[in-house]
Amino acid sequence: MEEAVISKNFIEQIIEKDLAEGVYDHVMTRFPPEPNGYLHIGHAKSILLNYGLAKQYGGKFNLRFDDTNPTKEKTEFVQSIKADVEWLGADYEDRLFYASNYFEAMHEAAIKLIKKGKAYVCDLSAEEIREYRGTLTEPGKDSPYRDRTVEENLKLFEEMTAGKYEDGSKVLRAKIDMASPNINMRDPVIYRVARMTHHNTGDKWCVYPMYDFAHPIEDAIEGITHSICTLEFEDHRPLYDWVVKELEYKMPPKQIEFAKLYLTNVVTGKRYIKKLVEEGIVDGWDDPRLVSIAALRRRGFTPESIQKFVELCGVSKANSSVDYAMLEYCIREDLKLKRPRAMAVLDPIKLVIDNYPEGQVEYLDSDNNLENPELGTRKIPFSRELYIERDDFMEEPPKKYFRLFPGNEVRLMNAYFVKCVDYEKDENGNVTVVHCTYDPETKSGTGFEGRKVKGTIHWVSAAEAVKAEVRLYENIVDEEKGVYNEDGSLNLNPNSLTVLKECFVEPSLLNAKAYDSFQFVRQGFFCVDCKDSTDDNLVFNRIVSLKSSFKLNA
Ligand code: ATP
Ligand code: MG
Repeated sequence: MEEAVISKNFIEQIIEKDLAEGVYDHVMTRFPPEPNGYLHIGHAKSILLNYGLAKQYGGKFNLRFDDTNPTKEKTEFVQSIKADVEWLGADYEDRLFYASNYFEAMHEAAIKLIKKGKAYVCDLSAEEIREYRGTLTEPGKDSPYRDRTVEENLKLFEEMTAGKYEDGSKVLRAKIDMASPNINMRDPVIYRVARMTHHNTGDKWCVYPMYDFAHPIEDAIEGITHSICTLEFEDHRPLYDWVVKELEYKMPPKQIEFAKLYLTNVVTGKRYIKKLVEEGIVDGWDDPRLVSIAALRRRGFTPESIQKFVELCGVSKANSSVDYAMLEYCIREDLKLKRPRAMAVLDPIKLVIDNYPEGQVEYLDSDNNLENPELGTRKIPFSRELYIERDDFMEEPPKKYFRLFPGNEVRLMNAYFVKCVDYEKDENGNVTVVHCTYDPETKSGTGFEGRKVKGTIHWVSAAEAVKAEVRLYENIVDEEKGVYNEDGSLNLNPNSLTVLKECFVEPSLLNAKAYDSFQFVRQGFFCVDCKDSTDDNLVFNRIVSLKSSFKLNA
């Protein structure tokens, strides 16, 4: 058989060229989250991409908290990010780093630039710096402080560091080119005075490095070879290259940009998720309607399904948006063979088998997964009184309705044929009980061939079934109306959560634990909720229904 030729993505091509030409003798990547929120599906792409490349080329992968900005960071976010990266399977071994641990080195790097005549202290206000910077069509103007001597700059920077100046009154700027066509190169600010308590270094520093200066230094210190980031940093690459060149690193890291992952009509941005959490519209960062990694995990997604999804998305330089249905496809495919099936009735009505002996319970054999015999079989109790889905019975069926209606016979899955003989209604006209008779000759697995029925429905035995709560989810935003309103607020879908409190599941699910997942036959995949499910009140999240609108292109 011919081997499929898998074409390399553009990042793999760059890495292979670098290795072949001896630019680097190893590969080292990193994931550098800012701990200012929970990670989402877009971050998963970045994590798996970086980790995957390191693994593919026998290299290493670091997790590094980009915590140079002291205002927003929270320990809760650090913990959740670690947990998410580990859960995704991106093993950073003992290489967990904090950018704030490099503050000393960054400060030394700034001094090195000053000594080289490549950085100066500037007294212009933020407003003035903006004015002097020029525009896309006009060059900038030199700051009046640009020609300070090395000695003066060293003294002023030391004084900034010692806390002699007010916040914002002085900055350190790289001395590059105020006429550069790239605005990022017009003497960017690299250090500012800011009295802020840092979660790691406390009040030790009152000067903090800017991202564009700090990031290449972090990469260089860790020996990163390929520093992968998203497209919005493309215009910053010349500055990245300038910093590593001027600091004379022996093996300067290289920045490579790729397009962010967007999901069509799905809220992914940290900023919007944060707003939903803070306004109490969702039940925390891990609300199963969100696409934060914690939410996907809680909903019942697996690391494998997310890996598959990221793989299918591919790596590109062009921004595009992927359908949520593709994510659903990936989890369905992953769980299909792995998970046992079970019967669960979400909207129950009673079914009584009039000719079945009262008090008798029979244990019927059922495969746990027809497509995967390795999952074995189980026994399901069967008795005179069952629950079936309300919509599996109709008093007056339309054409092509093959389930229960007066006079019709169906198969009860894994059990017998039953024929509807009667039904009861309450004073409001709602059906309360369906009466049937069963035919003992038709037991599943006995090879009965006497006659055929067109419908098969699922059921649970009323006395043995376990009561459970089931939560059904839809997109948090109303896709018909679009994600955002004109004022930038989100168009919320009022039906994004449906809670069904009176469901019944077969007794084999009684001992299900948090994160266990199952296929409820005819319904979809469901996962035990890790937050709210208890021994007395089982709670299941619907991960995904069985029907798919997504087709994978061959
Ligand atoms: P958000 O835009 O959601 O707030 P962010 O970019 O501010 O995310 P960071 O913590 O700064 O979040 O990002 C960590 C890494 O994840 C960066 O390398 C960033 O480029 C990458 N990343 C963020 N969002 C996406 C995305 N949608 N697709 C791919 N990578 C992403
Ligand atoms: Mg960010």
